[in-house]
Amino acid sequence: VIVSLALGADAAAVRRELAARGLWIEAVERGAQAGDVFLVVSSYSAAVDSAEIAGIPGVRTVSVPVSAHPRIDEQGPVVDVGGVPVGANPLVFAGPCSVESEEQILRLALRLSALGVSFLRGGAFKPRTSPYSFQGHGEIALGWMRRAAHAARLKVVTEAMSEADVPLVAEYADLVQIGSRNMQNFALLKAVGRSTRPALLKRGMAATVEEWLLAAEYLLSHGSRGVVLCERGIRGISGGETRNLLDLGAVALLSHVHRLPVIVDPSHGVGRRDLIAPLSRAALAAGAAGVMIEVHEDPGNALSDGPQALSPEQLAALMPSLLPSSTPSAQVSR
Ligand code: PEP
Ligand code: MN
Repeated sequence: VIVSLALGADAAAVRRELAARGLWIEAVERGAQAGDVFLVVSSYSAAVDSAEIAGIPGVRTVSVPVSAHPRIDEQGPVVDVGGVPVGANPLVFAGPCSVESEEQILRLALRLSALGVSFLRGGAFKPRTSPYSFQGHGEIALGWMRRAAHAARLKVVTEAMSEADVPLVAEYADLVQIGSRNMQNFALLKAVGRSTRPALLKRGMAATVEEWLLAAEYLLSHGSRGVVLCERGIRGISGGETRNLLDLGAVALLSHVHRLPVIVDPSHGVGRRDLIAPLSRAALAAGAAGVMIEVHEDPGNALSDGPQALSPEQLAALMPSLLPSSTPSAQVSR
């Protein structure tokens, strides 16, 4: 951002006003005309509306660089998903890695709802690290999930893996998930956009924040009514102690600087249940709009991702530190 000063303006006073808003000046430049002064605002500054800057006494013009992702820049921090404002108060998304049976998902949905969870997660179409692993029950599991969520008054988030699945998934899901392996599958993003459903865009496991925002932009430009981002860990140096590197710096950046709704998936981030509690709390402290946690009634026998799943009892113990003001009974009567 470049701020030009009115002729004779008190540059020191303007700088103080800018600094008070978290805007740091990295250079002061003089123009060709005598008296022209330009303040160059560092890109490591707070996000402040340019109209507010223009209103500071002594400011003549404010120039904002053209962004490659104007729609997501304008989206704002809250996305309405079927009447639930994601980005307002912290929310918990929970459920199994994959939807395994009708009974499983119904029992679990009712327990999760009673704990204060808002979104039921679960895969019907599963991306896997190995193509030879269980790939989900498909369409029938979408129906099980929708009915369970309806009975438990939860919203549904589930993944569409291919363009062909999108119309079906969009029929059953409140929020259509795009998995890490598909963040740059632009044909899929286009199809999800056309469905107009809000999208949950997981970060590609080797994607920069800028690439992630460009993918979000693409969804919005093709019709998505809002994008919620999800940090799920990126590939990095790991001896296998943790599955990925959970990038909470990116979460703080997106939340506090870009002012966008971003949730954190610590389950895929570290791949081990013993670290879910501290990382969930850290995620919310960094500005996350919520956390998405894998939960299974019998993690030892889960069809996928058992080692990172919490039991419902473990989630129950964690909930008060995630949503201190929500008591289970208050949620049930919602
Ligand atoms: C998931 O959330 O079910 C999943 C497969 O995650 P990711 O795409 O982040 O690996
Ligand atoms: Mn999983």
